[in-house]
Amino acid sequence: MKRRTREEKFMDEAIKSAQKGLSEGEVPIGAVIVYQDKVVARGYNRRAKLQLASAHAEMMAIDRACKKFHSWRLPEGCELFVTLEPCPMCMGASLNARVDKLYFGAYEQKGRSLTSALAESNLLNHKTEVVGGVSEEKCSALLTEFFSSMRQKQKEEKERKKAEENA
Ligand SMILES: [Zn+2]
Repeated sequence: MKRRTREEKFMDEAIKSAQKGLSEGEVPIGAVIVYQDKVVARGYNRRAKLQLASAHAEMMAIDRACKKFHSWRLPEGCELFVTLEPCPMCMGASLNARVDKLYFGAYEQKGRSLTSALAESNLLNHKTEVVGGVSEEKCSALLTEFFSSMRQKQKEEKERKKAEENA
């Protein structure tokens, strides 16, 4: 088997966090913050559980990292790994927290992420370097499987209701 690259190794950690979300019925998106080659904070999407629009994986991981370092400004060299291309809120939070490098797995298919536009805008006089497509297949399979199993469940539920009505 091919040896995993450093990027793939940390993306696997983000995938682990995504799977935790999956086990709680959330859309599986996971993130980790890496500092000095160690995972220092994790997060996964908890939007459904918390009913919070801001409960994205990246926000959770950034919040935890800030708490850990007692600073809204993360130390130089912090990297964020996330299984899906970040939305504008999370890309903004990464810039605000001064994340130096952001790696994401799957690309946002709808092309509404504005990732590179935000990364290059120099809004906060800080640049976050963005690398997309790390373990892309694994990351997108996670989401595809989740959505197809959700559709399957909805279909079964519909059929069950129909059967009940006809009984
Ligand atoms: Zn987000």
